[in-house]
Amino acid sequence: MTELTGMTPQELQAWCASSGLPAFRGKQIFRWIHQGADFDGMTNLPLSLREKLKAEAVAQPVQMVQERRSQLDDTVKFLFGLRDGNCVEGVLMHYHHGYTLCISTQVGCRMGCTFCASTLDGCVRSLTAGEMLGEVLCANRYLAGRDRVHNIVLMGSGEPLDNYDNVMRFLRLLREEDGVNIGLRNVSLSTCGLVPRMYDLAEENLPVTLSVSLHAPNDEIRRMTMPVAKVYPMEELLAACRNYIEKTGRRVVFEYALVGGVNCEEKHAIELAGRLRGMQCHVNLIPLNVVEERGLQGVTEDTVRRFMRTLEDRHISVTRRREMGDDIEGACGQLRRKTLQQAQGREG
Ligand code: SAH
Repeated sequence: MTELTGMTPQELQAWCASSGLPAFRGKQIFRWIHQGADFDGMTNLPLSLREKLKAEAVAQPVQMVQERRSQLDDTVKFLFGLRDGNCVEGVLMHYHHGYTLCISTQVGCRMGCTFCASTLDGCVRSLTAGEMLGEVLCANRYLAGRDRVHNIVLMGSGEPLDNYDNVMRFLRLLREEDGVNIGLRNVSLSTCGLVPRMYDLAEENLPVTLSVSLHAPNDEIRRMTMPVAKVYPMEELLAACRNYIEKTGRRVVFEYALVGGVNCEEKHAIELAGRLRGMQCHVNLIPLNVVEERGLQGVTEDTVRRFMRTLEDRHISVTRRREMGDDIEGACGQLRRKTLQQAQGREG
């Protein structure tokens, strides 16, 4: 079966031509796919062609398996099913500037951050570009008739820069005029800091916002929670960020999860401010979303406020991430993990 979802209009035209079809069908199929249609719904294609496509190809590589709506806000958590039986998570959030979808880029993750649920069982495999687009199409089908996805954040399970080529293909598909047509200024890519790939990304000439999971003011603390810090020290990471800012003209966002007893004291905020001084950047504070298996502590509201004020006093642009969907296993990898555990429990 050929997955058509990850193909560009030009590739679909070529695929049609090589299957003995007129090339213009490629453009029609591309439009339908990006509208979220399955082959049966592609009504301007001859019936015989629809049957042929159904037998040979895939238009919807991702299906909705579960939806969980938050009782606290408008957030919805999706569990997406892939064709090989794996599943990944996505979160749809309603902000004043429209719907934002958080998508997964891998089944699991191999980065090993000690606070994160996604990485507990390692990485099963990377998603294809068509599967990442499939997550967006699923969310658009969910919103059909009401609205559509306006912004995308690559902050679900997986390390996007560990799936570099597929992620680049996905980003280029997003901005196709006949497709879902999401400008890359509305896309944020979050990385734990794969330095060489950050330099590659800066050369792609794509106006995506780069988010970097920093989570510490120095290497010593960073190494306690993020194994990647043993490979790329913070000075190298910050140099890669400065290069990204210089090449793209865009500020970098630093994600900083506050972990009780690890990185949340005033001295840590002061040290962080010192390291980021003069950089065109923004800090996004995230109170740790406690993952049972991890044994790490969260922080009080007071601690968050104090940390934030210390940064502000030192002229660092900072916000705290709104905690959305706290009641629906909002943190990375939690819903997939719970569902897998329940399934295993049933089998056992
Ligand atoms: N691999 C990428 C993107 C996925 S994680 C990265 O590391 O950036 C998206 C963000 O959520 C990252 O900043 C990650 O460190 C953070 N995160 C993961 N688990 C968390 C938890 N339990 N509480 C708070 N933030 C968490």
